Amino acid sequence: MSVLSTEVRLAARPHGWPTAETFEIARTELGDPGPGSLLVRNRVMSVDPYMRGRMDDRKSYVAPYQVGHALEGGAVGEVVESGDEAFKPGDTVLHGHGWREYALVDARSVAKVDPSVAPLSAYLGVLGMPGLTAYAGLLRTAEFKPGDVVFVSSAAGAVGQVVGQLARHKGAAKVIGSAGSAAKVAYLKDELGFDEAFDYHDGPVREQLQRAAPDGIDVYFDNVGGEHLEAAIAALRPYGRVALCGAISQYNVAGAGIRNLSLAIGKRLTLRGYIVSDHNRQMPEFLTEMGGWLREGKVRYDETVVDGLENAPAAFMGMLAGENTGKMIVRLAA
Ligand code: NDP
Repeated sequence: MSVLSTEVRLAARPHGWPTAETFEIARTELGDPGPGSLLVRNRVMSVDPYMRGRMDDRKSYVAPYQVGHALEGGAVGEVVESGDEAFKPGDTVLHGHGWREYALVDARSVAKVDPSVAPLSAYLGVLGMPGLTAYAGLLRTAEFKPGDVVFVSSAAGAVGQVVGQLARHKGAAKVIGSAGSAAKVAYLKDELGFDEAFDYHDGPVREQLQRAAPDGIDVYFDNVGGEHLEAAIAALRPYGRVALCGAISQYNVAGAGIRNLSLAIGKRLTLRGYIVSDHNRQMPEFLTEMGGWLREGKVRYDETVVDGLENAPAAFMGMLAGENTGKMIVRLAA
């Protein structure tokens, strides 16, 4: 059986912020899955900040997207036709060929997921890559210890909302978050139990962080870079640790550099970058722990859902601009 499928392609590499011209919606015909392949109909797909980096033509930890080709990213869908005996039509799978209605995927590259355990979108968020990013980044990269004062930026986003709650459950002395609106600040304090939260538009981050943590911080989970990272370096106590997870304030602009990095010397700070896939082997441990917290209602999560593949470019650009609370998800037509 061949199917006609809609897909979103990279029309042109963006310079600065992506625009509607960055994307092209196209139709393509897919043939039968050969041996070892699956034809999957996508139900939900993810738009993530790292995709902005893949739109540039530069060497990185993951290959750039190609102009004229469909974009890629996390998606969950239903097997329609299977060329692999381990999968049958109706199975639900997590895979890396989002941004399209149907996908032909290598059966070795997908993971079966159980739709009765959690909503499909959770496998792209709290139980998926962003959740593991939070878990590995806080516990391993930042070497979190009970009693730490923790600051996380983009705290109301997919990764940040998990970081703050994890820190709380693991015994942080204080959890502080920054986000881009009053509504997000209220979400952090009222729904997620952050001790302190502020809107970074309300004044210099350094001053707001100083008010929230007058005695300093031990861990900074950096999703933003730039001014936030400088403020955290100023606030860190001796032997403080920074998990360099992301630098979203720099993805669409030429970065200005970190002006107070030399403070790291005298304070004996550790600033360590990491990539979530380095920690894939921690996934079972993470799922056991996070699954338990979700079942007990100890961890909450929000999602912002945009309907329709044709609206995926707007969802992506909206996520970069802060339109999401929690994970930004695109739901494909049922
Ligand atoms: P989010 O769900 O947090 O969405 C992105 C958010 O970034 C927006 O909602 C917006 O929220 C915030 N933002 C945008 N511009 C700025 C700015 N100039 N200053 C401060 N905040 C800004 O995304 P994720 O949770 O998926 O990702 C968070 C970070 O983690 C990103 O930097 C990403 O690249 C990184 N990451 C790294 C991984 C790794 O392996 N190292 C894996 C996954 C993610 P607001 O309204 O608060 O401004």
